[in-house]
Amino acid sequence: VVQWTPFIQTYKRHKYPWVQLAGHQGNFKAGDKQGTILKKLCLAEQRALERLMKDKLEPYVPRYLGLVDKGDQEQYLELQDLLSNFTAPCVMDIKMGVRTYLEEELAKARVKPKLRKDMFEKMVQIDPNAPSDAEQRAQAVTKPRYMVWRETISSTATLGFRIEGVKKSDGTSSKDFKTTRTQEQVLESLASFVQGYDHAPARYLKRLKEIRATLESSEFFKSHELIGSSLLFVHNEDDAVVWLIDFAKSIPLPDDVVVTHKVPWVEGSHEDGYLIGLDNLIALMTTLDSQ
Ligand code: ATP
Ligand code: MG
Ligand code: MG
Repeated sequence: VVQWTPFIQTYKRHKYPWVQLAGHQGNFKAGDKQGTILKKLCLAEQRALERLMKDKLEPYVPRYLGLVDKGDQEQYLELQDLLSNFTAPCVMDIKMGVRTYLEEELAKARVKPKLRKDMFEKMVQIDPNAPSDAEQRAQAVTKPRYMVWRETISSTATLGFRIEGVKKSDGTSSKDFKTTRTQEQVLESLASFVQGYDHAPARYLKRLKEIRATLESSEFFKSHELIGSSLLFVHNEDDAVVWLIDFAKSIPLPDDVVVTHKVPWVEGSHEDGYLIGLDNLIALMTTLDSQ
């Protein structure tokens, strides 16, 4: 059981342990204002949030209130704390898309690729049959090869999303989803997340469909690739809501590139597969709602 509580949050005189399901622990702090948190500044994310505050997607994104200086050499993005209105919430982070690295990160790894024994070892630990004959002989793989392979051990490459972390209201939590890959495995994890909250699947489904419809007409979505961005699911006895979070790798598309967000990625296409993931998620949530 992993539990990640970087700080105790206060909201309307009520105190609760804040939940962080991804990222480095030092990346977040309690906000100065009521109901806000601080996330370490990344310029690409700031730019994306500024645009999102003026986009049709704004109702589905945590409010961005500006930059904050904490006097520790760092700058922080001040964001609405999406947990503030929930007592004893269950929280799940789902990372969207068929890949979670930028094309430029892959290109960079391709420059003078070194043979990496550490990555070979990580690979065989998960799947002894993954390395090719040549890689077996070398007992090593290159970084770009490892990056592409890593997306195939979870549901990222096939379903267009993967579960990053879950925390339930009983305190149990898990980030152990690295190899949760098949539709059956994912459905089982989602079922366990909503178990005991009969209202949740229908509300999540409604919200996911609203998000789907809004994405279709969003200028931001049309002009950006969304890499490593997540949907944050939060529910308790009273409510169930989904938001879009994490825009550190949501970057403007090159001028001459148009993406559909719904076809598989090939290098150079900039396709992110965001809608592949969302449609699969909607289908699975529909299954849970009808059970
Ligand atoms: P990574 O890139 O590894 O996913 P990151 O440092 O970019 O991490 P985020 O993904 O933005 O950080 O957030 C990490 C976690 O913090 C989320 O999984 C979620 O649990 C929590 N979190 C982030 N933003 C908010 C928010 N506005 N309100 C409530 N919780 C949040
Ligand atoms: Mg994230
Ligand atoms: Mg991130």
